[in-house]
Amino acid sequence: MARAAESAAVQALRNVMQRVQQASERANRPISQLQVRVVAVSKTKPVAMVQEVYDAGHRHFGENYVQEIIDKAPQMPEDVKWHFIGHLQSNKAKALVSGVPNLYMVEGVDSQKVANFLDRAVSGLGRQPLKVLVQVNTSGEESKSGVEPSECLELAKHVKRECPNLHFSGLMTIGMLDYTSTPENFKALTSCREVVCKGLDIPVEECELSMGMSGDFELAIEMGSTNVRVGSTIFGAREYPAKK
Ligand SMILES: *Cc1c(COP(=O)(O)O)cnc(C)c1O
Repeated sequence: MARAAESAAVQALRNVMQRVQQASERANRPISQLQVRVVAVSKTKPVAMVQEVYDAGHRHFGENYVQEIIDKAPQMPEDVKWHFIGHLQSNKAKALVSGVPNLYMVEGVDSQKVANFLDRAVSGLGRQPLKVLVQVNTSGEESKSGVEPSECLELAKHVKRECPNLHFSGLMTIGMLDYTSTPENFKALTSCREVVCKGLDIPVEECELSMGMSGDFELAIEMGSTNVRVGSTIFGAREYPAKK
């Protein structure tokens, strides 16, 4: 039973990679932006299953609980490129950065405070600057973290100018509650990129857009996403323990 589930994940990954490829071709993007990064979101899934997907050649994995990524990272090969996705509590920044030496990117810096804590945590570790994306709340839902679109430039500026151990790499958003973003959310993030690139005087290629999940990654790619975060379509539906 477990074996069948594991190879199912690899098959699902191949299928997702194919759909990503087709969506990027449909999107009519410049060659330099054809390559969309797929982050396999492995939260709640066992390390054995993550290893299967790794063995199939995949390297970018995403988690969104600090304790879980700290537990998993040492059990996986060192060349995994880990992404922490979603809201991070500032008081956990240090544990995250020191517990995951191969942390590749934090997708979800949503305040100056988190940026400052991350910056401090990275300094002194002797690692490269940590790539971060600023999380923008494009859906207006109160349950979502992220800065308002009107505040994205200010936070991006803070990261770029005041946090020498961080590397501002772009913007990230989560779509609507049912995880099927309306194009409006994606358009809003694209507009934020225009504002940020102009305000920071950087080329568009230096500002990634992380948008698109299982339910909407093809649409997101067609609308310019450079980084999609795909969980359940690769690993199967998540089961959460009942809330205590
Ligand atoms: C869980 C999660 C995902 C993946 O969701 P799926 O719908 O399973 O693909 C993407 N982004 C964030 C921030 C998440 O927490």
